[in-house]
Amino acid sequence: DIFTYAPAPESRSVVRLRSSYGLFIDGAFADPAEGRSLKTVNPADEEVLAEVAVAGEADVDRAVAAARRAYETVWGPMPGAERAKYLFRIARILQERSRELAVLESLDNGKPIKETRDVDLPLVAAHFFYYAGWADKLGHAGLGADPRPLGVAAQVIPWNFPLLMLAWKIAPALATGNTVVLKPAETTPLSALVFAEICQEAELPPGVVNIVTGAGETGRALVAHGGVDKVAFTGSTEVGKEIARTVAGTRKRVTLELGGKGANIVYDDAALDQAVEGIVTGIFFNQGHVCCAGSRLLVQESVAEDVLERLKRRISTLRMGDPLDKNTDIGAINSAAQLDKIRELSGIGDDEGAQRWTAPCELPSRGYWFPPTVFTGVTQAHRIAREEIFGPVLSVLTFRTPAEAVEKANNTPFGLSAGVWTEKGSRMLWTANRLRAGVIWSNTFNKFDPTSPFGGYKESGYGREGGRHGLEGYIRG
Ligand code: NAD
Repeated sequence: DIFTYAPAPESRSVVRLRSSYGLFIDGAFADPAEGRSLKTVNPADEEVLAEVAVAGEADVDRAVAAARRAYETVWGPMPGAERAKYLFRIARILQERSRELAVLESLDNGKPIKETRDVDLPLVAAHFFYYAGWADKLGHAGLGADPRPLGVAAQVIPWNFPLLMLAWKIAPALATGNTVVLKPAETTPLSALVFAEICQEAELPPGVVNIVTGAGETGRALVAHGGVDKVAFTGSTEVGKEIARTVAGTRKRVTLELGGKGANIVYDDAALDQAVEGIVTGIFFNQGHVCCAGSRLLVQESVAEDVLERLKRRISTLRMGDPLDKNTDIGAINSAAQLDKIRELSGIGDDEGAQRWTAPCELPSRGYWFPPTVFTGVTQAHRIAREEIFGPVLSVLTFRTPAEAVEKANNTPFGLSAGVWTEKGSRMLWTANRLRAGVIWSNTFNKFDPTSPFGGYKESGYGREGGRHGLEGYIRG
């Protein structure tokens, strides 16, 4: 029975968790000044994994001061080739410890081990290798007249790809000579804390990387701190707007990676089985906790029935359950709060008249679970066609002409991602050129690579991470 929650003890045992974790400041773990902590749980069974410190203003102050000192005395003046050595060393250790980190990430986040092992961890190491290669070439990269670092970067990240978001933030910042204070999300702090251990193992100079754990108030204190030169945020559009207001009128530079409502456009000439795989990856990868998820399927009317039939058949074969089971396709929802949000928005889908289809499955009795869900009969006026659900819920709309597909795809406040499925090159280019999205995949979806820039239009934020463009957010230019 694939829905029985069977622990996988041999995998679990590769992780050696401490019962409590302090803050990582100036190269060492330290207790928070106010002595507060929060618990992080395994969303698949609600087991408490560890107690984690909550950083208050005094702790944030110490972390920023340590980062400033390290920037001015060690890291800023260090030749790029020397910085590269540390980044290469970190990348190697990440590879060596990738099995342990993959299990840890699945425990803390709820995502399937298949994904953490084959997607998250390889990409994390690849980011450090990639940006290590840039560290001594900045003067030759055509990055502007003054490719010097900004100083101290405050980095706030979400829970959906905890270690990968850390890599997207820390690798380019360090390669360009900045130092960082990073705050992981409150529900997934553990991999960032193990990353702190890796910084120690790599003998990274103290203060170059600091990790402050806590919830939104810790993030707020960090972003507002007067000693910060740059704010890099990935998370919700709501918090992103608050951050933009906080930094307005200060010297701080800011990049924001926010929400999305990606369209997956399937034309009638597409290779339909391939497209169905792309639709499934687009919305069910990482339980749909993906900012660039293909959460809206726009399918051409003439093939809509066929595509939906194939899609439902395919979804019915997905295995949901223990994230540590190597055969699991869909894991747990990251938190009770996120589960509530998914339930609420899909309930609104019902109320507004869309038709709900759920994959036949039994949910585990403990933990946070939501079955793969497809809404048909969705119109553009429906909230599930416009708002980010950030869960395994697909909204299906149809179109007749390419112009209608583009008009519907662009009709959201967001502009992060899109996918186009057609065998005709001219139609692909015609469509891609008209989509207002930062990332457009052709005949594929959710493919990531450290060499490619990633980021949004409109309310999906501004600035780019990844590739050469990712360096620009961390230099004076
Ligand atoms: P969130 O905005 O609630 O939290 C993100 C981070 O910000 C967390 O670390 C949180 O503690 C912190 N935070 C919360 N309030 C804050 C405040 N007032 N000031 C400073 N920091 C604060 O988002 P979430 O629920 O953790 O993540 C889901 C959202 O993130 C989705 O909307 C998703 O689309 C977006 N996301 C975007 C990208 C991208 O690259 N564009 C990537 C992943 C996630």
